[in-house]
Amino acid sequence: MPNRWAYPPSNILEKVNAAAPGAYQRLWETLQAASQFPGAELTSWWRDPSRNRSVGGALYSQHLLGLALDLYAPNLEELAHHLRQRVPGVRVQVEQKPPHVHVQALPTITPAARGMFSALFPAYYPPR
Ligand SMILES: [Zn+2]
Repeated sequence: MPNRWAYPPSNILEKVNAAAPGAYQRLWETLQAASQFPGAELTSWWRDPSRNRSVGGALYSQHLLGLALDLYAPNLEELAHHLRQRVPGVRVQVEQKPPHVHVQALPTITPAARGMFSALFPAYYPPR
């Protein structure tokens, strides 16, 4: 499987960090915890709107804000348990198509958080 994951661009990091203080710290803790799990690999981090669409991501996917990570390991349930035990405040979900663990730094995208999508990608998320 080719390694296709990308870092969030710096302009996105700055804006999202200002709007959601502490969120990137939780992802950093997630990466640290994942590095202690045998065989865990990062498979997706930041996606632009076009790539998010092509992989069937949610409309308001936190991957677009750089606030979600996908990880793979041979035992996904054990990896999810490992992360839930070690990183408070993130949402950890086991997904099957394709098999991975999705971790997002915000529990949900609130209406206020939707404003970040319009600010960052106005062509895809026109401001109302
Ligand atoms: Zn994901």
